Amino acid sequence: MPQPPAAPDFIANARLPRWLLPTDWPTDHAGPALALLELAQGRVTRTSPITGTVRVTGQGWDVQGAPVLPGMVDAHTHLDKAFILPRMGAVKPGLLGAIDAVIGDRAHWTHADLRERAERGLQWAWEAGTTHLRTHIDWWDPSAPPLAWEVIAELAAEWRGRVRLEQVALIKLGLFQDRDEAQALARRVAATGPHALLGGFVHSSNWDANALRHLVHAAQAVDLDLDLHVDEELNPGAQGLAFIALLLRDIGFTGRVVCGHNCALAAQPEDQALATLDAVARAPITLVSLPITNLLLQDAVTGRTPRLRGLMLVKEARERGIPLLFASDNVQDPFCRVGSLDPLEAMQAATLAGQLDTPFDTWSDALCRADWLQRQPLARATLDGANADLVVFTASDAHAWPSRTAPRVVLRNGRPLIP
Ligand SMILES: [Zn+2]
Repeated sequence: MPQPPAAPDFIANARLPRWLLPTDWPTDHAGPALALLELAQGRVTRTSPITGTVRVTGQGWDVQGAPVLPGMVDAHTHLDKAFILPRMGAVKPGLLGAIDAVIGDRAHWTHADLRERAERGLQWAWEAGTTHLRTHIDWWDPSAPPLAWEVIAELAAEWRGRVRLEQVALIKLGLFQDRDEAQALARRVAATGPHALLGGFVHSSNWDANALRHLVHAAQAVDLDLDLHVDEELNPGAQGLAFIALLLRDIGFTGRVVCGHNCALAAQPEDQALATLDAVARAPITLVSLPITNLLLQDAVTGRTPRLRGLMLVKEARERGIPLLFASDNVQDPFCRVGSLDPLEAMQAATLAGQLDTPFDTWSDALCRADWLQRQPLARATLDGANADLVVFTASDAHAWPSRTAPRVVLRNGRPLIP
């Protein structure tokens, strides 16, 4: 496929996913009609179906039916830990073993080390076509933020305009046991700026309903959004997600709440799991599924093939209209040996582990709907009038996507980004 001009005036024969098109968009047996995208001043000025002869002026690019997505969101990553695995010794399998291993590596987390690793991750994300990235940052001292918190705040300012970087304080639930300390932590996080969120690790090994209540109240008091690690385990007794859904309604929480992992749904009796999802839909909560790390960490025992896969109930969540995103999670650290901050890797894992039908037309919104992280999500996504931040999968097609998605051209504000 020929390369695009420096800033194309149009992209012809783009295959857009069904979720991004108006309901009256023409279709045939192969799916939605191909699209003509007209671009000017870094924006998509018009999207129209190609049904006959196309008349356009200027210099354009014919992508010959290649799948095209808007810029992507990677809703759940850990830039403070990324790339530490190659320098570490053997790590015990499973989630709790990985947590211990990271604590042992913290002695190396100087300003220069954190900056180099986090920036490498941002560069890879940017090259992949990500425009919005959210990272969790381990925060263990109640009286002061970790160095990584400051490094990420610096990078968020430096990368503005390339990758919108948000940072979530990932704090053990135990640090919220005291109501006043919980409030002080939330104030410290809020002081960082509007790109900061409060988070926590909610797991049956540290379950504390009061602490969780304090955490949510503290966020409400300073108007912070929440992003929590929830039920990342196969213990059917894990009750984090169900509890949070009820709590938010109880206290009339007004911010946006994101819950990641929710693996325990896969281990619980069907009726119970579905009732929890009904409550999540009413809350409302955005769910983030992290299929790569869940496949690696759930039911992980050395020398034994895993039987249980720990994928949250993504189809049942969709059926209930719950906003759902797939994201990268850990990259080359004790939680996950592989990874490259390319959201397509998470999509490939989800497609197989979740047996997803028509991934491009139906599920690719789970890589693109950054508005699902915001307080006021869009009623409907559209390209018309949006920034021309686009990802063109030049070697793939809408049927086989996400296969052959490595070769791609990323456009930012209408200009191809040449890494
Ligand atoms: Zn995580």
